[in-house]
Amino acid sequence: MRARFIAFLSGLLALLLATPVRAQEEGLVLQLTRDWGYGGGKDIQGLFSLKASGPDDLRRVEFYLDETLLFTDTEPPFRFQFNTDNYPLGEHTLYAIGYTADGRQLHSRRIQVNFVTPETGWKTVGKIVGPILAFVVLAMLITTVAPFLGGSRKATLPAGAPRTYPLGGGICPRCQRPFAFHLWGLNLLGGKFDRCPYCGRWSLVRRRSLEELRAAERAELANAMTPPAESEEERLKRALDDSRYQNL
Ligand SMILES: [Zn+2]
Repeated sequence: MRARFIAFLSGLLALLLATPVRAQEEGLVLQLTRDWGYGGGKDIQGLFSLKASGPDDLRRVEFYLDETLLFTDTEPPFRFQFNTDNYPLGEHTLYAIGYTADGRQLHSRRIQVNFVTPETGWKTVGKIVGPILAFVVLAMLITTVAPFLGGSRKATLPAGAPRTYPLGGGICPRCQRPFAFHLWGLNLLGGKFDRCPYCGRWSLVRRRSLEELRAAERAELANAMTPPAESEEERLKRALDDSRYQNL
């Protein structure tokens, strides 16, 4: 499951980043790179560059689209940048012919491409990115709406009370109380996105071992014991202050 997710992510990354298509060949090496736009298999759209390299005595490179000469470069780096939108849609063959100082003619490999409309390109990207965006929006919606939906229903469990963790559990980063994960909690990398039943807040909670959860239950109890001792002291101090005024 995780391996598939990683494969999916790297696939997406490869699609979004410029992907040099390179073939090692004798003579003239031709590379097609995406500078900006869409590239999925043969389908391309946007700003692309053709780069040619060859022997040291390479003097001139002609870049072709089908039988049409697009550009002649007489200085290295031999490069031609083009926008697919400026050419007819559909199947095309890209190639280059190089000329050396001693008059040799070098032919590059032929790159088969299919120029698509920006709409087609982005629609395909949307099919991949769409679900991710939907998930992010959903997660944001849950965090925004959930406190209003379930916020009033907070569990009241006495501090230190032992509880069960059938689906595992974590410690709320907000109120520090340990709680059992819910069925609806979203599994995310490194933890669960779940709602703490005590403070009602949603957060990414790390999965803890049972020993850690039990320790947190005991800590809860210790925390519950301490505050009254402090407030008692404060109450006494206040009483003392009050009595001083009464004496005047
Ligand atoms: Zn909490």
